[in-house]
Amino acid sequence: MVAEEEERLGLMTLAKTEAIVLKTAGYGEDHRIVNCFTLNFGKLKFAVKGVHSKKNRFGASLEPMMLSRMVFYDHPAREILMLSQADIINAFPLLRKDIKLMSWGLYMVELTDELTAERDRSEDVFFLLKNTFANLSPESEWKMLIKYFELKFFKICGYELQLANCVECRGPIISKNTYCADINKGGILCEKCQKNISFMSINISGETLKILELFSSISIDKVNRLIVSERAFEELEGLMDLYRKKYLSRELKSLDFIRNINI
Ligand SMILES: [Zn+2]
Repeated sequence: MVAEEEERLGLMTLAKTEAIVLKTAGYGEDHRIVNCFTLNFGKLKFAVKGVHSKKNRFGASLEPMMLSRMVFYDHPAREILMLSQADIINAFPLLRKDIKLMSWGLYMVELTDELTAERDRSEDVFFLLKNTFANLSPESEWKMLIKYFELKFFKICGYELQLANCVECRGPIISKNTYCADINKGGILCEKCQKNISFMSINISGETLKILELFSSISIDKVNRLIVSERAFEELEGLMDLYRKKYLSRELKSLDFIRNINI
């Protein structure tokens, strides 16, 4: 039965939503499966026909990191949906013209694809991706914008670190030069509890702790004004390495590429 016929019979409804393309993969001879994070439905998979023909009516609207308006036949019981129309809203040209930013952009969509479940709706995830892409440019504080994205993203996924008190005994954290963050336990440990750290812990400076606290309260447009030391940035990277080790089941291809070209 064709999609139009199923719609007539009430088996499908025509739906529309804004979406950010996460991944496209070839399927069969002339099909493509496109994973998108949509504003109204969470992550969805669309099947697209005729992608290699000259008459490909979708143009560039289905390329990764595109913000497009999608019209599709919705059927809650189906894993792969039929796409009817896709129009570009924002191609984020500043992100695409720079190899560093494009590589990190691909990392962000791969991370999103990996850690979100289908139809798990989250406006927070959608707007975090959209606003990060809109703020990234070669002149921006792009390294910090990416760290902001990562920390916010893990927070939305429910993996926020507890910073105010010791995550183990709930006791106060005495102010000092270095703090111990334990990803397995989910927060900062007081001196007494540091005797039982897990293998997923890292020492961070007071500056890094402040950045973590700040990131949970500021909007993304403020990140460009932050001045951060190299040490704090490296500690944030170390923290993200631990996050990925704990919550991802595999190495991300995009990150492998980023490390290979050393950006
Ligand atoms: Zn403690």
